[in-house]
Amino acid sequence: MLKTTKPSGIMEKEKSCYFCVNDIADIDYKDVNVLRRFISSYGKIVPRKRSGVCAKHQRKMALAIKRARIMALLPFTTR
Ligand SMILES: [Zn+2]
Repeated sequence: MLKTTKPSGIMEKEKSCYFCVNDIADIDYKDVNVLRRFISSYGKIVPRKRSGVCAKHQRKMALAIKRARIMALLPFTTR
């Protein structure tokens, strides 16, 4: 059941995905203000069920956060 590339799946009537609503196709790791919304107070990536981000963007977002962490833009953990 890995039909993630199905076009009809992207066009959902209830858009809770931040990146779909704002029409962001590629998430930039430099957009710290945006990425910060999707990390918890402990610096962890917020699960999809809580953030409402679609699977496609969750993957890209997680990658962007990981990159941002390496670039020291976001924390790995809060101390
Ligand atoms: Zn999305």
